[in-house]
Amino acid sequence: MNSIQDKEKKYLEALKKKIQRLKKQRNAVIIVHNYQRDEVQDIADISGDSLALSRAAVRTDADVIVFCGVYFMAETAAILNPKKTVLLPVIESGCPLADMVNTDKLLEKRKQYPKAAVVCYVNSSAAVKAQSDICCTSSNAIEVVKSVANKQIIFIPDKNLGRYVQANVPDKEIILWEGFCPTHIRLQEQDVLNMKTQHPEAEFIAHPECQPQVLALADHICSTGGMFKYVKNSTAKEFIIGTESGMLYKLRRDNPDKNFFMPTLHLVCPSMKLTTLGWVAHALEANEHVITVQPEIAKKALISIKKMLEVSEESPVAAIAGY
Ligand code: SF4
Repeated sequence: MNSIQDKEKKYLEALKKKIQRLKKQRNAVIIVHNYQRDEVQDIADISGDSLALSRAAVRTDADVIVFCGVYFMAETAAILNPKKTVLLPVIESGCPLADMVNTDKLLEKRKQYPKAAVVCYVNSSAAVKAQSDICCTSSNAIEVVKSVANKQIIFIPDKNLGRYVQANVPDKEIILWEGFCPTHIRLQEQDVLNMKTQHPEAEFIAHPECQPQVLALADHICSTGGMFKYVKNSTAKEFIIGTESGMLYKLRRDNPDKNFFMPTLHLVCPSMKLTTLGWVAHALEANEHVITVQPEIAKKALISIKKMLEVSEESPVAAIAGY
């Protein structure tokens, strides 16, 4: 190891110790999405995909939730925990997909399709969730759509996830929204084919935010949480990963006997990488940035979130702090 790497390692270790100390002082819990930087994943009390994190946010008894993810995730945690302090270390960590839908456009669409229910992917603002009938994540989208009585569904905002749901729930008419994840859309069919040629034994697992021609090549399609389970149970030794590159860290750490390959170097979400250990320490020290949601919006959004959690959990979510 050269001296620069050594210095960086020491610096990160010192920051980790500082975060542990601050966390104790503030009775805080650190919740980390699977796409975060490796060193941020190291300090997670709870890590996972959007659904796992929504559930964890409901159950925590900490006073402070530090959310290492993007804005809509911290907003969801704030809706579920109105009496707790929710901190987002970097306020600029937005999700471009979530910004592709707003309430005005959604209301217009509702007028166009008055008989349709609105199923809203959690990658959306609190205001949009408040105008929707039920939320979903990439791991429960099919289950949620099946649970809705209406035949017509306006599915917002990710068109690729919407198409994937339509293929699996043919008796519903899914009205797609023109939204997409700018990271997942970078993965091209040819990238996967090239990687398959190099690693013919590898299984290709893909996130449903990928384009349909990419999903057509997948051995398995699932959320990031689903990928961990799939890899653990599969007899395959090699995997091509069709989602954000942050996934590699925990996949490699938890499965040292298996190999993982990214089909392209472009699967990096810039928003997810904004959070650093320095910003996490600063968030706890300076109490920044506190994420709040207007009570009227939070109250309506909570109904959509709660309906989703009821569909995807065995027991009712009595633990949700109510308004
Ligand atoms: Fe949003 Fe895509 Fe980044 Fe996820 S990976 S936060 S959907 S832009």
